[in-house]
Amino acid sequence: MTKKKNIDPRSGMDIDSFREDIKQHLKYTLSKDTFSATEWDNYRSVVLAVMDRLHERWIDTQQQYYDDNVKRVYYLSMEYLIGRLLDNMLINLGLQDVAAEAMEDVGLDYDEIRTTEWDAGLGNGGLGRLAACFLDSMATLGIPATGYGIRYDYGIFYQSIQNGYQVEKPDLWLRYGNPWDIVRPKIQYDVPFYGNSHAYHDEDGELQFEWQNTHDVLAVAYDTPIPGFKNNVVNNLRLWKATSSSSIDLKSFNQGQYIDAVRDTQLNENISRVLYPNDKVFVGQELRLKQEFFLVAASMQDILRRFKKTEDDWRNLPNKIAIQCNDTHPNLAIPELMRFLVDEEDLPWDTAWDITTETMAYTNHTLLPEALEKWPVSLLRNLLPRHLQIIYEINSRFLEKVQASSGDDRGKVSRMSIIGEGEDPVVHMAHLGIVGSRKINGVAALHSDLLKKTLFRDFYEMFPERFTNKTNGITPRRWLRQCNRGLSDLITEKIGEDWVTHLDQLRQIEEFAKDQDFVEKFVEIKQENKQHLADYIKEKRDIDVDINSMFDIQIKRIHEYKRQFMLALYAITLYNRIKENPDLDIVPRTILVAGKAAPGYTMAKLFIKLMNDVGEKINNDPEVNSKLKFIFLANYSVTLAEKMIPAANLSEQISTAGFEASGTGNMKFALNGALTIGTLDGANVEIKEEVGDENIFIFGKTVDDVDKLRHQGYNPWEYYEGHPELKKAIDQIRDGFFNDDKELYHPIVDSLLNKGDYFLVLADYEAYINKQAEVDELYKDQDEWNRKAILNTARVGKFSSDRTIRDYAEEIWRVEVDR
Ligand SMILES: *Cc1c(COP(=O)(O)O)cnc(C)c1O
Repeated sequence: MTKKKNIDPRSGMDIDSFREDIKQHLKYTLSKDTFSATEWDNYRSVVLAVMDRLHERWIDTQQQYYDDNVKRVYYLSMEYLIGRLLDNMLINLGLQDVAAEAMEDVGLDYDEIRTTEWDAGLGNGGLGRLAACFLDSMATLGIPATGYGIRYDYGIFYQSIQNGYQVEKPDLWLRYGNPWDIVRPKIQYDVPFYGNSHAYHDEDGELQFEWQNTHDVLAVAYDTPIPGFKNNVVNNLRLWKATSSSSIDLKSFNQGQYIDAVRDTQLNENISRVLYPNDKVFVGQELRLKQEFFLVAASMQDILRRFKKTEDDWRNLPNKIAIQCNDTHPNLAIPELMRFLVDEEDLPWDTAWDITTETMAYTNHTLLPEALEKWPVSLLRNLLPRHLQIIYEINSRFLEKVQASSGDDRGKVSRMSIIGEGEDPVVHMAHLGIVGSRKINGVAALHSDLLKKTLFRDFYEMFPERFTNKTNGITPRRWLRQCNRGLSDLITEKIGEDWVTHLDQLRQIEEFAKDQDFVEKFVEIKQENKQHLADYIKEKRDIDVDINSMFDIQIKRIHEYKRQFMLALYAITLYNRIKENPDLDIVPRTILVAGKAAPGYTMAKLFIKLMNDVGEKINNDPEVNSKLKFIFLANYSVTLAEKMIPAANLSEQISTAGFEASGTGNMKFALNGALTIGTLDGANVEIKEEVGDENIFIFGKTVDDVDKLRHQGYNPWEYYEGHPELKKAIDQIRDGFFNDDKELYHPIVDSLLNKGDYFLVLADYEAYINKQAEVDELYKDQDEWNRKAILNTARVGKFSSDRTIRDYAEEIWRVEVDR
């Protein structure tokens, strides 16, 4: 045995020191022995040993940024859908195998420890997961970045299914504490609300404004380390928790109102209590507006304080920092920065405006009108009176310019106004974001193009140089290296490990698509992954699934535009075909669906019930269930995604063209060797370009077709009457074939036949089931299928979030990257 020399044993990267630290922490940090330790104690001891190996790197990285006085990137997001962190931390530190052996030495099972961790679900879906992938890529590329967000007490609700219905339960992710974050009790800021804007003249006779008589809430910092992949960089994710400001209760305290004062404390803490569970829907509640300003105000104070430590000229701000807003949710940062520069730092408006518009950038995530944030002026006037004034000032100066350039287009001023006029005027947060930012980006080529042509057309004409595309990506660390160790090791065996940070290198495995030995191993791994998922289904649902059947998967938030209903129609069609002809020679399929519906989204919740009823019918029919199964798995989350994606043969990406801004689930599946059946929507368009037309199943109406059809006047009845299989499926849903309550599904049928089928399910049905027939044909030829699956993995390197972040760094943030 060699003795360790001069190494702080707490950052030793060998098995011995790691094992000793687990033991030390169990005893001296948690005061337990191996007999009294619970699973959670064991898990915590392991995390503490991992944290020991992060601290030095974390401190050094931050010190280095300071010493080098680098330009910083600040990512502002209301959501981070992180998932479990243990694997991710160990992989990025290069410690996974060391830790596994050390755990084994002390009698701990790696997988048991790993699964003891609570899934951190501080997000709804794609937008929050994107922020999490970006953190990983920014650290891996050595970008001096900090993520800012809110430390919600309750993340996205836990979904259980009872009698086929979604039931929401609170997500108590902090019940036993979060071992990955560190509270910074001394890093806290007052976040003011309410009060009034006081106008006065200063000594020089200049008109000034002061926001006064505010009610303050305290924001306290909680930091989570974000290590890059094997580069010793550790960035910071800083989440704010709301608590009571020390100053508020003095008066009532003196009057003996002790209990009232303390109760007030509770109200303040409500700000960071719970994540709003809506995906792509704007809910105009005051508490949500408070959350958004809470994030912005605390983060901006932190950012500006850091700038001030080394700089004295505010005009240098855009050279030293870039602020990226993940959707419009943090766009109050624009008037907040203006307020700070003008009111507190006495800068002239124009100077402050130049600084602001050179510093800010905004990412648009959707064209859906119901998702666009429009805050009532009345709410803002009450909660943030000075910001409302500033927004009016920004708007009036902006509209003067619009007026001057609008010629005889009389509607332009009102179309472009940040303030939407009407009974109850609103602040249009996307317009504020465009007017106040240097760059505005969409999240896939098609989406960015549509932004310029439709939603933001006027703005594009005025500021063409501000509009840009940054096609989304996913981190290869979590979405291949971590979730699919088998495939990951096979790839590394052939081409080395560089692909983990340079995903384009997967092109090198193209040549193995015809190598019999490689193909066999690839298939074996897929079968293993399918078996793992089958075991999970058996455990959770007591259903036996055949791992030789095609695993056909749709997992994502439940939304009408994502058309889970169309997949259900297809399943019903297959069911009917088998019932009519029990000897039918079809490819056995296991259709798997998972996803949460927003608690207030009635139609989406009814889809969940329908899918469960359809599943009951199919799975319990002995004439059918050896050829077809339809299973809805509860509580879709990052953890469930990591189990399902590596087991997929077919990836369902079937949104109505023009509605899915990018999608990132589509990328995860293709990377793990599933073939896609999808519409020409979002990033599917670019996936098709990368993998080749012959390696993807594209069907259905394009954006242009959708446009034309709507103009002609779309009549869903024609499609219903014109296709007997479609008619039969819809009639069954309507007439109580899947549920004794004959009324239950009438709202669905009504929306299709009597309310215009806005998402064109009936119009795309035939193209969809015909394309599914082609999928079947290919699946019968397993050699061809496997070859194409390998080509999918080999050709989707573009969709690494490292590439996305390199693009942001170069064009939007103007910072250097390491690799
Ligand atoms: C990737 C991911 C999403 C986004 O999926 P889409 O298919 O792009 O909508 C949503 N939720 C989770 C848990 C994810 O991992």
